[in-house]
Amino acid sequence: MVTATQSLTDDMIELFAVEIGAEVRLVNPGTEQEEELQRILAFDDADAESEPRGPVITVMGHVDHGKTLLLDRFRGANVVEGEAGGITQHIGAYQIEKDGKGITFIDTPGHAAFSAMRARGAESTDIVILVVAADDGIMPQTKEAIDHAKASGKPIVVAMNKIDRDNADPNRVLAQLAEHELVPESYGGETIVVPVSALQETGLDDLLDQVLVVAELEELTAVRTGRAAGSVIDAHLDKGRGPVATVLVQRGTLNVGDALVAGAAWGRVRALINDKGEQIKAAGPGTPVEVLGLSEVARAGDTFVVAFDEKTANRVAETRGHWQRQASMANTVAAAHGGAKLEDIFSQIQAGETATLNLILKADVHGSLEAVTDSLKRLERDDVKLAFVSRGVGGVTENDIHLAATSNATILGFNVRPDRKARQFADAEGVEIRNYEIIYKLLEDIENAMLGLLEPEYEEVVTGDAEVREIFRVPRIGAIAGCYVTNGVITRNSGVRFLREGVIIWRGTVQSLRRFKDDAREVSAGYECGIGLSDFQDLRPGDIIETFDHREIPRV
Ligand code: GDP
Repeated sequence: MVTATQSLTDDMIELFAVEIGAEVRLVNPGTEQEEELQRILAFDDADAESEPRGPVITVMGHVDHGKTLLLDRFRGANVVEGEAGGITQHIGAYQIEKDGKGITFIDTPGHAAFSAMRARGAESTDIVILVVAADDGIMPQTKEAIDHAKASGKPIVVAMNKIDRDNADPNRVLAQLAEHELVPESYGGETIVVPVSALQETGLDDLLDQVLVVAELEELTAVRTGRAAGSVIDAHLDKGRGPVATVLVQRGTLNVGDALVAGAAWGRVRALINDKGEQIKAAGPGTPVEVLGLSEVARAGDTFVVAFDEKTANRVAETRGHWQRQASMANTVAAAHGGAKLEDIFSQIQAGETATLNLILKADVHGSLEAVTDSLKRLERDDVKLAFVSRGVGGVTENDIHLAATSNATILGFNVRPDRKARQFADAEGVEIRNYEIIYKLLEDIENAMLGLLEPEYEEVVTGDAEVREIFRVPRIGAIAGCYVTNGVITRNSGVRFLREGVIIWRGTVQSLRRFKDDAREVSAGYECGIGLSDFQDLRPGDIIETFDHREIPRV
């Protein structure tokens, strides 16, 4: 049953049409409208002058092969000693300088994010650095990364990492690369392979040099003046600052005060913040910046453009928003029509029906939300469809649980956590929330569920929650969080997560625990305590510190 105001999905319309013997031709008014909007925002390139620009790099490779460390090394090398205590911002991308040339790195490693961006039409990457660990060789995700990079037609430079390892086998890696049509130069091919150790910081300069050589051949150029355009790298909602989008400027100059549209989000740019945390007035091509002042959270992978005036920006965004809401309403209706939870999906498949798995997906930032969605969609088979009842950025809320209960959906959390109230509510409603911090593991679980092999979840049982009330800075020791234990027991040396608005911002262990001036082994609910965490400094009052243990959840 649907009511007169609900939208139907394309599938439902076609089924209905067959039933009543009608013929339908599906057109997408959103697409037609979009073409019109594109014309309004188009650039007149006749008198725009292009100048050379530096490359934008994405790092891809198998998990644990060293992507993150490599990205950290490049960023670290660029932090000027003493500058703001050497603190860098993670805004989703950063820019370094090498021999007077700018190189921009997209800071979310992995091919999933890369492809999600490409699917949206944001072609931001110029060169792919493929990281292959010399001791491990080409692995499944390396192959996927190669496929994605090739599909994009972008040049690939191979970083053969971990060559410091005793069991490193460079020759084997070279042979494997050749098998995958990345024939190394030493084999007479064209693929540049640079041996590096991100750990010992060897070969990194050489890698950058090679990247610049490839960039030179690509003859990359950009228009530097006039209205700015580019792509959204990442976006999230910040409690104090509102919607924040990290954008990469790809043409023109983005200024404070500009009227910007990114998908269905728009606004007058209130502030621009660079990757060093500094407020800047303008950003040119190749510069990643955080943009404040948008009306809503933009979507990673959307392109952005500065409009001629605020009115145009507003009109374009509103029109897009309208069509996006239409499309998402149709999805919800589809999900409500049958569909199963994760634990029931296999029996539905076995019953020979086309099974639909209903999902609610919550993630920490827009980039990961898109990446997870995109990867999940690729798991669809002829007999198993996925329906996203809802997708969003932020922690798992009671609202999500309501929706899951009424639409028979399973909640997947990526880098987010339900708070205590939400957890209790989910238990009461019989809603399953599965939490992940590794995309690979999430996909594996869903795939296994489709095969009837859903593994027991190793739940991290929350043993205690504490609310941060005040931060004390102690010389040589670092930050101490003055906390109030709200639930359970906080124990020294237990695993710990920091949550801000339900999003995991850090994980590690409790380094020191104190009641007044004395060391304590544990502190229970209702008491105050001081928690020391040596290598995490960015705590704020209101953050939640959550401790946990591991326990297998039995399946019934
Ligand atoms: P990612 O999953 O690809 O991002 O990998 P990480 O950067 O997190 O690295 C995985 C592990 O490998 C970490 O423990 C790193 O310290 C380690 N690692 C990274 N690069 C090197 C390297 O060059 N040599 C050695 N020995 N270990 C490395």
